[in-house]
Amino acid sequence: MSTGPITAPAGDDPWAGCVFARLDGPDDECIFCDTRLHYTAGESLVDGENRWFLATRCPGCGNEWLECGRGLPSEPARTILTERTGQWVATVGPETTSATPIMRAFRRIYRDTISEARQRADQLRRNGLRGTHGEMLVLRHHLADLGVGLEIAEAPSVVPPPGQSQRGL
Ligand SMILES: [Zn+2]
Repeated sequence: MSTGPITAPAGDDPWAGCVFARLDGPDDECIFCDTRLHYTAGESLVDGENRWFLATRCPGCGNEWLECGRGLPSEPARTILTERTGQWVATVGPETTSATPIMRAFRRIYRDTISEARQRADQLRRNGLRGTHGEMLVLRHHLADLGVGLEIAEAPSVVPPPGQSQRGL
């Protein structure tokens, strides 16, 4: 399927010639020319906030798509980020007996309700919490302010369920 790039009309407009559509089709192939796309992704902790980006480039037709944002990465950028930079798991030490500061951090970061924050805090204390590296850094930053130490480690890779292939690298 090829619909052709959706581009801004030529002229003095600074966006002239830019593509205004995601490039990812099925199996990470370009929607315009079916070439396998190249992704570059990253996150940084800046002033206690996660800044992320996902650059998508088609080596076939040369179209590019850049997505960036603050806080929790939106989908599908988050999934692609995780594939590029791994999934990370955060755990708190056994000395962390109170869920209260952890819940406070979750309510601040994820805007959780009290019950959501309690559920997430229980998960963190029991099995650890998974996410992108940037998300875990933000969590550590907020918890450190509340006197809670957080360990971050790369999560063991998850084998995809049968019949579901991993996205191409
Ligand atoms: Zn292309």
